[in-house]
Amino acid sequence: MLEAKIPSGPIEQQWDKGRLEMKLVNPANRRKHSIIVVGAGLAGAAAAATLGEQGYHVQCFSYHDTPRRAHSIAAQGGINAAKNYRNDGDSVFRLFKDTVKGGDYRAREANVYRLAQISNNIIDQCVAQGVPFAREYGGLLDTRSFGGVQVQRTFYARGQTGQQLLLGAYQALEEQLAAKTVTMHIRTELLDVVIVNGRARGIVTRNLVTGEIECHAADVIVLATGGYSNVFYYSTNAKACNCTAIWRDYRRGALFGNPCFTQIHPTCIPLSSEHQSKLTLMSESLRNDGRIWVPKKKGDTRSPKDIPENERDYYLERRYPGFGNLVPRDVASRNAKEVCDEGRGVGPNGQGVYLDFADAIHRLGLETVREKYGNLFDIYERITGEDAYTVPMRIYPAPHYTMGGLWVDYRLMSTIPGLFVAGEANFSDHGANRLGASALMQGLADGYFILPSTVPDYLATTALDPVDTSHAAFTAMKTEVTNRIKSLIAINGKRSPDSFQRELGKLMWDECGMARSDAGLRKALARIPELREEFWHNLRIIGGDEELNQALENANRASDFLELAELMCVDALNRTESCGGHFRVESQTPEGEAKRDDANFCYSAAWEWKGPGQAPALHKEPLTFEYVPLSQRSYK
Ligand SMILES: Cc1cc2nc3c(=O)[nH]c(=O)nc-3n(C[C@H](O)[C@H](O)[C@H](O)COP(=O)(O)OP(=O)(O)OC[C@H]3O[C@@H](n4cnc5c(N)ncnc54)[C@H](O)[C@@H]3O)c2cc1C
Repeated sequence: MLEAKIPSGPIEQQWDKGRLEMKLVNPANRRKHSIIVVGAGLAGAAAAATLGEQGYHVQCFSYHDTPRRAHSIAAQGGINAAKNYRNDGDSVFRLFKDTVKGGDYRAREANVYRLAQISNNIIDQCVAQGVPFAREYGGLLDTRSFGGVQVQRTFYARGQTGQQLLLGAYQALEEQLAAKTVTMHIRTELLDVVIVNGRARGIVTRNLVTGEIECHAADVIVLATGGYSNVFYYSTNAKACNCTAIWRDYRRGALFGNPCFTQIHPTCIPLSSEHQSKLTLMSESLRNDGRIWVPKKKGDTRSPKDIPENERDYYLERRYPGFGNLVPRDVASRNAKEVCDEGRGVGPNGQGVYLDFADAIHRLGLETVREKYGNLFDIYERITGEDAYTVPMRIYPAPHYTMGGLWVDYRLMSTIPGLFVAGEANFSDHGANRLGASALMQGLADGYFILPSTVPDYLATTALDPVDTSHAAFTAMKTEVTNRIKSLIAINGKRSPDSFQRELGKLMWDECGMARSDAGLRKALARIPELREEFWHNLRIIGGDEELNQALENANRASDFLELAELMCVDALNRTESCGGHFRVESQTPEGEAKRDDANFCYSAAWEWKGPGQAPALHKEPLTFEYVPLSQRSYK
């Protein structure tokens, strides 16, 4: 059933060969086809703009009030590409190899190779759009390092790379809006997908301002709706990020790939109060120059400046001399947890480690450090009240990115024909751990380069019946969506949507977060259905459904998180190996590193919804490693 549809031949030629084999749609016929793109972040805006430019009739949807507010705007550190401007040994093959290894051999080789190839086109495209990447004195684009690699391949625009890339994609989208090839539907949330004769043919949405439930038909649906880290409640994602779009599609037959593969980012500002609503990232780029340490002694409460060098433990540099502070995120996060669990953490509650710039300031000068990272230091000061130029930052791991998502084949099509998935929403190319600066690369590869080849091929090779919103399938889905919204309002209980999500998030962080055990996962699997039951009997939403109602929006999203969380735990329980960010305490090396079990788990797990109260069915996509042979990851 699971066919990845990878073109045959040597890996370096697969994408070119595949594209040559794909059918085209003649320009005069393109305007006869309609495409729905849900999401206007980097992946969605890039796809909508490019398909619009090709001449298709595109409708783009976002729950935000403008595409510019998509969560991609938050990306700070940078975007990878194998340009090798530094002449430090980089190549397409090295980027490919680093990514396969970084993901702990749980990604599809062919996709990762294609991503590395396309990385160079992305930089050219963005430069042509005017994205203001940092430059060196000589004029070449500047680069820096991110975790898990030993070259400098990360292109950046200060600490605002996502924002600048999104402005580029937004400009391209605006051009198509003006040309009327793309129609934008803002503050409109997808609540379900419509399937006609086994193919995705439309969506049902709620207008977030008026509450109106509407139907939209098309020949193809593209989901680019971002990740689901907010299942943990506290995460570096914006409050509104949610799983509804992919979850509703899962319930309609799209398989969900590796739901338990989530990334905990090592450098976030520690939680300071249970009442705060989210966590703030301090970009990984800071690990280029910042040194991470904790006191050697347990319970040492002295101020950092009073702790002499020989009483500090630069534990990453000590344990991983080869990569030092730039080990991949999963490794850095687990080590931070370990030293804090040993009682050597710093700050209130001991949930923090130092990220210290004293050496960098001494070596490079204050002005250089300010120029490279100034806006991050400003954010840190605004949140903590501390000046990181004079005292070390305190950081702690936090949920950040989800490698899991809807399963897609090489062409980014899900198991529902006609439903394509791009960006963080798909189960993607990162395996069990994403290397820093690779998400922007993947989202833009999907949107600017892959979908614009694979969607036309689908249109050119598929006989599509004419379908519009008067079809019975739309009427039925509209009724179902309306009833669901009304039933949420009708519960009229006592607990707010947020209180359920907070409780769910804590449970997920404790039992399905940085460390996962058989007993903990079973505990979560027992509690989640109880919490869901309570949700459907004791939820209270203030206000009605025919108006702007954020409590209703939150409740609707929470109802999906309450189901997704269970699937994540099922997946984590099934995978009794450790790999990347999925750390099963029962499976570790004597040094405490993740221990894979390639004999039994060298596959992507793709789960099928079997109905409420039914166990999901597991499908396996076997993974083979022909070009980067399987080996134990080492960053020593
Ligand atoms: C703080 C932070 C910093 C980061 N820094 C980096 C970095 O330096 N480098 C890097 O490579 N990666 C970084 N990442 C990761 C990267 O930013 C994201 O993975 C990526 O931007 C996701 O893009 P996307 O287009 O898939 O989704 P998003 O940008 O999240 O866009 C989702 C879109 O879908 C819409 N949407 C969602 N659901 C619905 C629905 N049901 N109906 C209608 N519309 C919907 C939203 O309105 C939005 O337009 C960072 C992430 C965070 C949280």
